[in-house]
Amino acid sequence: MQPLADTVSPIESPIESPIQSLEDAIDRCQTLGMRLSRQRKYILELLWQVQEHLSAREIYDRLSRLGREIGHTSVYQNLEALSEQGIIECLERSDGRLYGHISSSHSHVNCLDSRQIIDIQIELPEAILKQVEAQTGIKVSDYRIDFFGTKANPKTDEIN
Ligand SMILES: [Zn+2]
Repeated sequence: MQPLADTVSPIESPIESPIQSLEDAIDRCQTLGMRLSRQRKYILELLWQVQEHLSAREIYDRLSRLGREIGHTSVYQNLEALSEQGIIECLERSDGRLYGHISSSHSHVNCLDSRQIIDIQIELPEAILKQVEAQTGIKVSDYRIDFFGTKANPKTDEIN
């Protein structure tokens, strides 16, 4: 295969196309000249497979259970590098950082029962964006919404 870097002149573009698959994530690493170690690939594979928001500890535990050889330090370092480069999501929570597979803008539904965080793509109606802009004088270019709630099915415990 011919190396692309030598033939294609880089186009200066601040807006990268969003990463939409594990393959995209791997491609992005290569475009950025990041070394794609086996360990780094394990982490990306896991995040894309489970599609949850996990702590570094949970990622380490799950990889260990899958028989993937990776050290604690390596998990932390790789997560740092991947989130710094915008290849994965990093959420700062009061009890620590969580990592997710979607790096582009998206919203979250936070379940207060299970503490699960579900990714969701939500587009606000134009009227709401206009209202925000009118009230603040800021032209909205991006937004992320956090929804909070409990499971919709009422608990049946009370009947007993
Ligand atoms: Zn997320």
